[in-house]
Amino acid sequence: MNNKKFYRFGDNSHYTRGYTWAYSIISRSEVYESRCKKCGSVAKYPIGDFDVIVEGGVKYPDVLGCGAYPFLIVSEVVVNDWFDAGITCFTKYNVGVAEVKSKKLVDVPKPNYYSIEIEGRCKIDLDASGLKIKRKCGVCGNMTTKLLTSDGFKMVPNSWDGSDLFRDIDLYPRVSLCTEKVMKLAGENQRTNFRFEPMEGPRESFSKGIDYLKLYKKRKSKSKQKTNQKCIINRRSIG
Ligand SMILES: [Zn+2]
Repeated sequence: MNNKKFYRFGDNSHYTRGYTWAYSIISRSEVYESRCKKCGSVAKYPIGDFDVIVEGGVKYPDVLGCGAYPFLIVSEVVVNDWFDAGITCFTKYNVGVAEVKSKKLVDVPKPNYYSIEIEGRCKIDLDASGLKIKRKCGVCGNMTTKLLTSDGFKMVPNSWDGSDLFRDIDLYPRVSLCTEKVMKLAGENQRTNFRFEPMEGPRESFSKGIDYLKLYKKRKSKSKQKTNQKCIINRRSIG
């Protein structure tokens, strides 16, 4: 395959302290809602912009955990880091903070947040990852997998499209994957509340993941490479 290092990432709200958290969503756009007639699985989430109600914490993180739906929500500075580094393989939707239920945050300026839908693609190799499909609904595709051996994901060879942000939209639409470049940007710029783990494992579900803030702190380099991001845009309804 290739020698690139890949990571699974998201918010780290369960392992960091003091950051507020979005516990509910108020849609400002069309809401996707479905209940599968065959297996009964329910999906409901906004398709475009939405607002959140935040609760707890004393500060705003750069990656905002969301209890209502596993959206990837990042602050504007993170989006700018990505754009500046030539990473453009995503669609962003505005996320407003409609209500603050933390007394200590009421007077703190709210960052602009964006919900990110990653456009980069790969395919997860279930067999190679040690995952077995136990049940898969023939109508909606909802599936239950059985973990055999693995604690990480392996990709189908040559299925990665070269994007720095990518995911398997069919099997794991809510799992965000990235290259080392993304983790390095987060570390160099000291962006808060990211969680990074090696894509192929081990999954460190008992720890706070890779300490990217420490890892890249002093290795600040000004050399910016302009890369031509290869981007396959192939959107369909999520879920
Ligand atoms: Zn179904």
